[in-house]
Amino acid sequence: MVNIRNFCIIAHVDHGKSTLADRLLEITETIKTTGHAQQLLDSHPISRERGITIKLAPVTMNYRGYCLNLIDTPGHVDFSYEVERSLAACEGAILLVDAAQGIQAQTLSHFQKAKKLGLKIIPVVNKIDAPSARVEETIDELAQLVQLDKFSVLKISAKTGEGVQELLGAVIERVPSPKSNINAPTRALIFSSVFDPQRGTITYVRIVDGEIDKTDKLFFLATHLQGATLQLGHFTPKMMPSEKLSAGEVGYIITNIKDPSLVKIGDTITTNSFSANSLIGYKEPKPMVYVSLFPVDQNDYSLLEDSLRKLRLNDSAITFSATASKALGRGFRCGFLGHLHAEVSQERLEQDYRLNIIATMPTVEYRNNEEPWVKAMILAPSQYLGAIIGLCENRRGILKDQIYHGEHVTMTYELPLSEIITDFFDQLKSNTAGYGSIDYEILEYRPFEAVNLEILINHEAVDAFSQIMEKGRGLQYGKFLVERLKEILPRQQIPVAVQASIAGQIIARADVPAFRKDVIAKLYGGDRSRKDKLLEAQKKGKKKMKRIGKVEIPGDTFLRIFKT
Ligand code: GDP
Ligand code: MG
Repeated sequence: MVNIRNFCIIAHVDHGKSTLADRLLEITETIKTTGHAQQLLDSHPISRERGITIKLAPVTMNYRGYCLNLIDTPGHVDFSYEVERSLAACEGAILLVDAAQGIQAQTLSHFQKAKKLGLKIIPVVNKIDAPSARVEETIDELAQLVQLDKFSVLKISAKTGEGVQELLGAVIERVPSPKSNINAPTRALIFSSVFDPQRGTITYVRIVDGEIDKTDKLFFLATHLQGATLQLGHFTPKMMPSEKLSAGEVGYIITNIKDPSLVKIGDTITTNSFSANSLIGYKEPKPMVYVSLFPVDQNDYSLLEDSLRKLRLNDSAITFSATASKALGRGFRCGFLGHLHAEVSQERLEQDYRLNIIATMPTVEYRNNEEPWVKAMILAPSQYLGAIIGLCENRRGILKDQIYHGEHVTMTYELPLSEIITDFFDQLKSNTAGYGSIDYEILEYRPFEAVNLEILINHEAVDAFSQIMEKGRGLQYGKFLVERLKEILPRQQIPVAVQASIAGQIIARADVPAFRKDVIAKLYGGDRSRKDKLLEAQKKGKKKMKRIGKVEIPGDTFLRIFKT
C-alpha cells in the first residue's frame, strides 16, 4: 500500500487534462505508442468534441515500483456530485490551470471540495509553450486564489511534455499513500458505473478498507441490495481481471445486477452484511431541469423511447415520462441535472441514435408557487464587476459576498435556477470578454410570483409554448416569442395575429399579413408541367405542416424557435 498513489486532475474544459493524461500514460509506458492513442480517457465522441468527460475512466500506471491510479473527473458544472465522489476516491489532486486563460470558477470550487476532503493539492500551470501564455501572472493568481505557496506551483507543457516528468515525481513525493486498513471489514466506494450490453453493470470502485475476492458476495448499503461478483480487476487502461482488490486500490467489479439504475454512484459496497457505516453518504441525484423532447417525425416515437432507455442505462440521473402536445405530437418530458446535461443528452440522442428531435425551452420544476434557487460563485477579473452585477440584478440575483484576490474578484450570488438555465452562461461570457466563469449548487425552494404565459396564433393557444414563469420573465419572454414568430411564420391566406397572453391579458402582439398572390399566380400561365410540379411540391410541403386552427405552420417552426 505504501507504493500506491491515487490522484485525479482538476481542470476546466480545454485546460489540457486529456493531453496531460496522454503524456502520463506515455512516460509510464502504460501505452507504448505516441500520437495514435490520443485522448484515451475521453472515450465518448461527444465528450471529446465538447471537451466534456461524461464517464469516469480510471487508469492504473506502474512506474518505478509505484502503482499510480489516475481517476478522471467529469468536467462540467452539472456533474459536481460525481466529481465529489471521484475526489473522495483519491488522496491527491493535480490542479491544472491554462497559462493563458487562468483559473476558472468551477476549478476553484472543485479545489475547495478537494481541500475539504483532505486531498493533497499539486498546483500546475499548463501550456507554458503557448505564445499567449502568461506564466508568472497565472502563478501569482493561482497562489492567491487557492492560498498556496507560489514556489509549489509546477510549470508544464502537456503538449510538448516539458515538466511532465517532474510532475510525475511530485505526485509520488507529495501525494500520501492510502491510509486504508486491510484488516478492517471491507468497504468500497462506488465512484462511477457503466453499462455494457454484453457484460452488464460494471462498477468502478476504490477499496477503502479490507479486500474483495473474486468470489465474494456484495452488499450495497444505500440500496440494500445483494449481488454476486462475476469478475473484478484493475484498469491498465483496459480492464484486466485479478483475483482480488485490496485496500487502497482502484478497480472494477462486474456484478450480476441487471438493472444499472440500482448501482448508485457514492454507494458503499461491503462483503458480509449491511451493518457497516457507509463511506461518504449517498445522495440521490435529483433532476432539476426539464425539457420535453418530440421526434420531428412522429414515426420515430418508439425509437426515441428506446433510445432514452438506452441512454438511461449509463446515466441514471435522467428521468422521462410520456407527454403529448397538439402542436408537436407525442414525446417525452425529460428531467436532467442541469441544462448542460440536457444539451449533451440531446446531442447524444441525435448523434448516437440518429434521431431528429424538437426540444422545448428548458424549465425548472415549480412547487406551489415556489421555485428552486441556487448559490452561484462567479469568478472574473475585477474590471468586469459592474457588468456582472448588472447581469445578475437583471436575473433577480442577490449579492451575498464579494472578495478580491489581486486582479480577480469572486462574487457569491443567490439566483433563481430558472434565470440561469437559458442564456446566462453566454451572457456572462460576452459581458466579461470571455474571462468570467460560474459554478453553482442548488439551495432550496423559495416563493415567487408565477404566471402562465400563453402564445396564441390566430387566437388559438399553442400548447408547446405554454409555460409557467416568474412574472417579469414571462413579460420579457412573451414579447421575444411574438417577435420571433413574426419573423419565422410564413404568410397565410388570411392575416394572422400572434399574441402573448398572461392571465387572460394580451401583453404582446404582432401581425403577419396575408400573402397577395397564390403560388401559381407567380408563373405567367404557360408551362403546364412546371405548374404541376409546383403544386406537387406544395402538397408535399403541406404534409409536414402543423395545423393550429385555420393556420398551417411549417414543422420546423418549433425547431427554429427552440434552437435559438
Ligand atoms: P481538456 O478539455 O482539459 O481535456 O483539454 P485537452 O487536453 O483536450 O486540450 C485542449 C486543447 O489545448 C487541445 O487543443 C490541446 O492540444 C491543447 N493543449 C493542451 N495542452 C497544451 C499545452 O501544453 N500547450 C499548448 N500549446 N496546447 C495545449
Ligand atoms: Mg478532455
